[in-house]
Amino acid sequence: MTKDLEASREEMVEQQLIARGVVDPQVLAAMRKIPRHLFVHEEMRSAAYLDGPLPIGARQTISQPFIVAYMTEFLGLMKTDNVLEIGTGSGYQTAVLAEIAAEVWTVEIIPSLAASARRTLETLGYGNIRFKVGDGSGGWPEEAPFDAIIVTAAPADIPAALKDQLRDGGRMIVPVGRGDQRLKLIRRLGDRMIETHLLSVRFVPLMDAAPKENP
Ligand code: SAH
Repeated sequence: MTKDLEASREEMVEQQLIARGVVDPQVLAAMRKIPRHLFVHEEMRSAAYLDGPLPIGARQTISQPFIVAYMTEFLGLMKTDNVLEIGTGSGYQTAVLAEIAAEVWTVEIIPSLAASARRTLETLGYGNIRFKVGDGSGGWPEEAPFDAIIVTAAPADIPAALKDQLRDGGRMIVPVGRGDQRLKLIRRLGDRMIETHLLSVRFVPLMDAAPKENP
């Protein structure tokens, strides 16, 4: 069983990431190592290495492996970087960031998802992740500025607070738009924000408030 999952994980890296042009050795190493199947519900473990998103409860999804790799690669992370993540979700992307960067601050609006991501990440032994439950569109002002910011749910427009919390020279990656979404890379150079449009994407919307959860 474990062997099958390991083989599937290696296949994911070869066929979904390397074959599509992901080259960053840190990203590839992280995704070779992290047991993605532990970030989905038990009955979905055998699907964890497939080429797509999967439901994680509360009508949210764990992102497609390629998207995780693609976004992380564009952040151009260094080992000394402090990273802010908005939308913890399953915690899988958080683990990828925590493998590469120095420290990760992650914000999730749905308490049950935040709790289960935290449990998984703590069980796996990550000690460089700080968790917050709430609306991430305000960022994490007490810990700003950040070297990199990643948003994994789509706002209609990029929240000003997130731009403000980007360090000079810092990078932010964020899916923007309602309906049609574009993945954007923002680089801060002094007071200037340099925007690059990347892929067309489909993320869940960035919410203003947590939805009511079923008991
Ligand atoms: N990176 C995650 C993606 C999860 S989907 C993964 O691969 O598992 C996006 C997540 O953003 C969801 O968990 C959703 O609850 C969360 N989210 C939506 N709006 C938010 C907001 N305003 N603040 C923080 N998290 C938010």
